[in-house]
Amino acid sequence: MKREYDVLIVGSGAAGLYAALQFPENVSVLVISKRELTLSNSSLAQGGVAAVLDKSNDNFKLHIADTLIAGKYKNNLEAIEVLVSEGPSDVLKLKEMGVAFDLDERGRLQMTLEAGHSRHRIVHHKDSTGRAIVDVLIDKVRTHKNIDIYDNTMLYKLDKNEKGFYAGLLLADGTSRVIAAHYCILASGGIGRVYQYTTNSAIATGDGITLAFMLGARIKHLSRIQFHPTAFAAENDRERFLISEAVRGEGAVLLNCDGERFAFKYDERGELAPRDVVSNAIMLESMAKGNEKFYLDITHKDPEFVKKRFPMIYEKCLEENIDITKQWIPVFPCQHYLMGGIDVDLYARTTVDRLYAAGECSHTGVHGANRLASNSLLEALVFSRRAANDITEKLGREDNTPFGEFTEHEDLSGRTMPHGFRTEIRRLMQETYFVIPKPELIPESLKRAKEILTDLTGGEYETDHNFVEARSLATVACIVLEEVLRKNDEQQ
Ligand SMILES: Cc1cc2nc3c(=O)[nH]c(=O)nc-3n(C[C@H](O)[C@H](O)[C@H](O)COP(=O)(O)OP(=O)(O)OC[C@H]3O[C@@H](n4cnc5c(N)ncnc54)[C@H](O)[C@@H]3O)c2cc1C
Repeated sequence: MKREYDVLIVGSGAAGLYAALQFPENVSVLVISKRELTLSNSSLAQGGVAAVLDKSNDNFKLHIADTLIAGKYKNNLEAIEVLVSEGPSDVLKLKEMGVAFDLDERGRLQMTLEAGHSRHRIVHHKDSTGRAIVDVLIDKVRTHKNIDIYDNTMLYKLDKNEKGFYAGLLLADGTSRVIAAHYCILASGGIGRVYQYTTNSAIATGDGITLAFMLGARIKHLSRIQFHPTAFAAENDRERFLISEAVRGEGAVLLNCDGERFAFKYDERGELAPRDVVSNAIMLESMAKGNEKFYLDITHKDPEFVKKRFPMIYEKCLEENIDITKQWIPVFPCQHYLMGGIDVDLYARTTVDRLYAAGECSHTGVHGANRLASNSLLEALVFSRRAANDITEKLGREDNTPFGEFTEHEDLSGRTMPHGFRTEIRRLMQETYFVIPKPELIPESLKRAKEILTDLTGGEYETDHNFVEARSLATVACIVLEEVLRKNDEQQ
């Protein structure tokens, strides 16, 4: 690892990797990932990427309209226009790079339907699209000599002066290091781990959002959190396996504890209504029935089709002793996605000079109050490319002098952090701010989250992975709950 880079990219998901590949050879780039390179929400993406690629049957206006409807018209129209009109060429670029999207019998990209989309426009690789994309992007990044990529390297601190950033890193060998970079792109993913149950990967603790917040960046709509209606209802797993929307898109129906279809009682779009609507329907039905058992039924479809179309879901459910071609799948809502984040403009620029954010940690305004399925990988691609292009252009115009002397090794020792902070934060969030929030509990939860954060920041604890993630969870919980409280007050 060098001492100075032009650009530091925090994250090896779709946003971080795709950004890195945009830079010309003369721009030095460092990509870091706090765990293995493939451990990310991007790798977990099943359904696919939404893009208007068949203009005989689809158009930009329809994709824009679907995105607005799902987002309850709280989206930024300009950002959606960029997403929808530029996205198709990024998807084709991925295909060119070697991502094996499924093809139909005539060799054209196969498009599937997902909830909230009025047309078949989701390109996919079986039911493991994200991993197919990430694997190709990692291979590509490794061929670029200007890009250094390090796994198990965690950003714990981000300081800034007029030249750029000083980034504190916890390295794979247990030591730490400070490096300098003129620009930084945060592509550090979501916040799922602030909940007891989430579909998100273990990395989703909101570190990038926290560090941006500590630098004074504007954070927007962090309380816009999406709960997916159909995660596999395993008793004890924190990370819940997602039963993709595409399963409902292919005809699966939702059943309550009595085996009755109920989604149409709550919305005329039934199982194919946007996620928040279906999650809400499940919670209301569970209150009406006094029972939390819900199922997805796809047993009426040809078993061979189901196995071929959803091989990963089929295998995962079999591991839980459910043969989805013969048995109903137990499901329940859980945390899935963050619509808000570090506020950025159309070039992914945050409110802090030289700091960019892309992917799930950012708020472009594309998703509004609720993300339309398969728009997030697309957002990660489009806006990370725009960030990289903007930085390249700026670097071309600037004469960035070296950083000079700075402290490369910091003392991170301290007291061992006591157990229990993370568990407590997760419980607070799950109990107070799930699908149907409990406003009466929020002031008390916020008070406790603030106490935990104060203890963490003032406790002189050792700066290790555990501490950094606990600090992030507490910061995220405080921002979310404060925002909810503020919105509730405004409504009264
Ligand atoms: C189960 C599941 C299914 C999904 N299905 C779809 C789908 O079909 N279509 C779709 O469009 N979207 C889907 N999504 C959402 C989509 O996958 C994500 O929103 C998107 O991939 C996020 O990409 P990202 O690059 O922003 O973040 P991620 O892919 O989550 O990557 C974050 C990266 O940041 C790194 N990082 C975090 N903190 C630090 C730190 N402190 N120091 C160093 N590195 C750090 C991590 O190690 C990781 O490499 C799904 C999500 C889940 C969880």
